[in-house]
Amino acid sequence: PQRDIGADVLEDARTTYELDRRHVFHSWSAQAELDPMTIVGAEGSYIWDGTGRRLLDFSSQLVYTNIGHQHPAVVEAIQRQAADLCTVAPQHANAARSRAAQLIAERTPGDLDQIFFTNGGADAVEHAVRMARLHTGRYKVLSRYRSYHGGTDTAINLTGDPRRWPNDYGSSGAVHFFGPFLYRSAFHSTSEEEESARALEHLEQTVRLEGPETIAAIVLESIPGTAGIMIPPVSYMQGVRELCDRHGIMFIADEVMAGFGRTGRWFAIEHFDVVPDLLTFAKGVTSGYVPLGGVAISRRIGETFDHRPYPGGLTYSGHPLAAAAAVATIEAMEAEGIVENARRIGEEVIGPRLREMQQRHPSIGEVRGAGVFWAVELVKDPVTREPLAPYGGSSPDMAAVLAECKALGLLPFANFNRIHVVPPCTITEAEARAGLDILDRALETADAAVAG
Ligand code: PMP
Repeated sequence: PQRDIGADVLEDARTTYELDRRHVFHSWSAQAELDPMTIVGAEGSYIWDGTGRRLLDFSSQLVYTNIGHQHPAVVEAIQRQAADLCTVAPQHANAARSRAAQLIAERTPGDLDQIFFTNGGADAVEHAVRMARLHTGRYKVLSRYRSYHGGTDTAINLTGDPRRWPNDYGSSGAVHFFGPFLYRSAFHSTSEEEESARALEHLEQTVRLEGPETIAAIVLESIPGTAGIMIPPVSYMQGVRELCDRHGIMFIADEVMAGFGRTGRWFAIEHFDVVPDLLTFAKGVTSGYVPLGGVAISRRIGETFDHRPYPGGLTYSGHPLAAAAAVATIEAMEAEGIVENARRIGEEVIGPRLREMQQRHPSIGEVRGAGVFWAVELVKDPVTREPLAPYGGSSPDMAAVLAECKALGLLPFANFNRIHVVPPCTITEAEARAGLDILDRALETADAAVAG
C-alpha cells in the first residue's frame, strides 16, 4: 500500500518529536540519549515515519501486531463498541467480555476454561503466580535464565535477562535455572537429546535443593521470545510437565509473546503436546490495538477459588473496548486463515531463506524459529561464537546493521546480538521476501566485523 503523507502531517511530526523529547519518559532508556522514530501512519505490514518514508515492519512493534496494522474489522469493532458501550466495571457481566473469554477458552489447550483479564502481560504473570501460590500454599517460583516475563515487580524478578539486575531486591522467591539452549549450552551438550536430558536433570536437582515443598510454580515461556527464540525440545517440555506433576508444582506457560498465532499455532505450547496449569497471554490477543492480557486457568486451579474469594483484581479487567478488539481479532484470524499463513510463511519462506543466508554470511551464528517468530544470532567469530554485541549490551557493529536495515526500509526487532524476524502473521510471501532481501544486504555490514 502507498499513501500520501501531507506536508501538515510531517510538520506535526516535528512538533511530536520535540514534545516527546521534552515530556515523554521512555521505558528502559537513558532519557537524554534517546532518538525515537516518530510514526505517523501504519497499514498492514508497513509503517510511515516522521519524514514520510515507508518501512516494512518486521518488528510487529513489540512483537504484537499479529494481524498487521489497522485491520479494518478490528478498527470497526472498536468504533462500534465505543459508540455502544465504552466501559463496564469488572464486577458486572458484559457481552464483549463474555464472548472474548469464550473465544480464548475455546482455543487454549486442555481444561484452561476460565479467563482472568489483565491490562497486559506482566500483570498476567503476576496473577498467574499469585494463583499458583494460593493454590499450593508455597511461595518460590522457578524460571529460566534467558527469559522475559514483564516489567512489574514479581514479573521482573522472574525475568532472566539483565533488566532484572537493578530491580532485584532479593526477597521475591524467584529462583533461576538454565533451560535448554544447544547453541550456547550451559551443559556442554553436543546434541539436542543430550541438552534436553541434562537440562531436565539440572532442573530436577534445582527443585530438590530448593525443596519441592517450597515451590509453587515453574514459569516458562513456551518458546522464549525476547531472550532469543530458543525452541525447547519436545522431550524437555514434557519432562517439565512430568516433574511438576511429581512434585505438586504448577506449570505456568507464558504465552504473552508466542501466543495467538505467532508460531503458526494458536499457542506455542501446542508444539509440545503439553497442557499447563495456567497460561498467560497478552499482545496478539488484540494485536495491541487496545491493551489486554490475561490468565487462562485450569479447572484444578479454578476450583481453589470456587468458594474462596480470589484476592486480586484490576479496575479495567476485561475492559469492553479491549474485549471487543479481542473478539474481532480472533474472528478475523480464524476467518482469514492467519495462523495458517504464519505457519506457511515460516516453513516455506522465512526458514529456508534464513538457512540459505547462514551459508553465505559468516556473521550468522545460528537461525532459529517457527511461524513468524525467528531469531538470527550474529557473531564476531563463527568458531568461538563470540556475540556481535555482549549479553545485556549493544555494540557499534550491531548498531551499524540496524541502521543499514532502516536505511534500506526495514524495521526489525533487535536484542543484544540478535535480529528477530517477527513480522505480522498476515505478512504476504512477497513482503516477507522483500524484507529478507533487505536483511540479506544489511548483513554484509555485519560480515565486515567478522574476524579473519
Ligand atoms: N511475558 C513475555 C513472554 C513477554 O514477551 C512480555 C513482553 N514482551 C511480557 C511477559 C510482559 O508483557 P507486558 O509488557 O504487556 O507487560
